[in-house]
Amino acid sequence: MIPDSLNQLIESFKILPGVGEKSAERYAYAILDLDEDLVSQFASSVENIKDSIQRCSICNSITDKNICSICSDKTRENNALFVVDDPKNVFLFEKLNMFNGKYHVLNGLIDPLEGINPEDIGIDSLIKRIEDEDFKEIIFALKPSIEGETTSLYIKKILDGMNVKITRLASGVPIGADMEYIDSLTLERALSDRKEV
Ligand SMILES: [Zn+2]
Repeated sequence: MIPDSLNQLIESFKILPGVGEKSAERYAYAILDLDEDLVSQFASSVENIKDSIQRCSICNSITDKNICSICSDKTRENNALFVVDDPKNVFLFEKLNMFNGKYHVLNGLIDPLEGINPEDIGIDSLIKRIEDEDFKEIIFALKPSIEGETTSLYIKKILDGMNVKITRLASGVPIGADMEYIDSLTLERALSDRKEV
């Protein structure tokens, strides 16, 4: 019989996406084999993550400071604003290293069927930022779905009449696909072939 405490660790790993019984067991045994100081380091980084991560007060991305490293980077250009619906996608695009503008993270997408309205996803602060800072282009990189479409059209309507170009990533990104599973070449092409909304 597996000891209860080991079983509990296995069950904890199984909470994570993509971790099944076998992997969870492997991870738990690996932890058991680690030196004690490494285990403490592991445990405290898990324990501290919720307290140390907060939302950037400018772009709403995740950061461990009040203002994230991208917003506080003076070498970043202020001409284009990349709008995403998940902070994960900021880091995904950053990894491609092909964009030197700024980002703004919405808290998800408008989804009337689920009761998620424009005021729930932080569109107000996005609009205010576009009004305050002098962006030349707003690039929508929202999840390719009906909700993504609804959200970009809603924002476009508000921005109508403002002197700003509004584009979105070109298709080639399959509808409904989660961006993290799209390869970087596809994303690069989607960015360079972006179309006006
Ligand atoms: Zn920021």
